[in-house]
Amino acid sequence: MKAGIRNFIFGGGLVAAVLAACGCTADNAPRLTGEEKDIIDAEGIMRVLTVDDREDSLLLRSECADFPLKALRSERFGRLADRMIATVTDSTQDGVGIAGPQVGLKRRVVAVQRFDKAGEPFEVYPNIRVEYLSEEKQTGPEGCLSIPGIYGDVERSQTIVISYVDIRTLETVRDTVNGFTAVIFQHETDHLDGILFTDRM
Ligand SMILES: [Zn+2]
Repeated sequence: MKAGIRNFIFGGGLVAAVLAACGCTADNAPRLTGEEKDIIDAEGIMRVLTVDDREDSLLLRSECADFPLKALRSERFGRLADRMIATVTDSTQDGVGIAGPQVGLKRRVVAVQRFDKAGEPFEVYPNIRVEYLSEEKQTGPEGCLSIPGIYGDVERSQTIVISYVDIRTLETVRDTVNGFTAVIFQHETDHLDGILFTDRM
């Protein structure tokens, strides 16, 4: 991607106006399937699904499930986190975020570049939900690794509160995020509800 538009490429959809109820127990989450394990255990950069492919587009419209807490403790989850970051930062993608469905997993996980943190690291958030969306909005151009060649302005909340599971403690933790990084989180968590940014244009 060209440097000028790079900052606007992320994976994403409509955060339901109704905030996701949280406090859900991840222990009820379905175990990883053999197919999911195969996707995670493969080598190299992950295949990024696009709306150009019919089967891919159906998966991109799916609701995602949480990871069981046990799965978050496993080396396999660490491998997935590493591979999602390797994929979104690969020169062929060069995005600022990516979500589970974009790599073929109907699971609530996103990798987001934290422009609001020193060093602007990519971080991975399992079992993530947006718990609060500010009334104050910001509008800016977006694109999506799964929708090649399409860009458009989207209105997003200026400030959000996310919840996710900390893989070290397995506790649900919350974080308040502002500005452009909050836009990336909204785009990526939309993907987990089968929503694409073009739905919001
Ligand atoms: Zn996207």
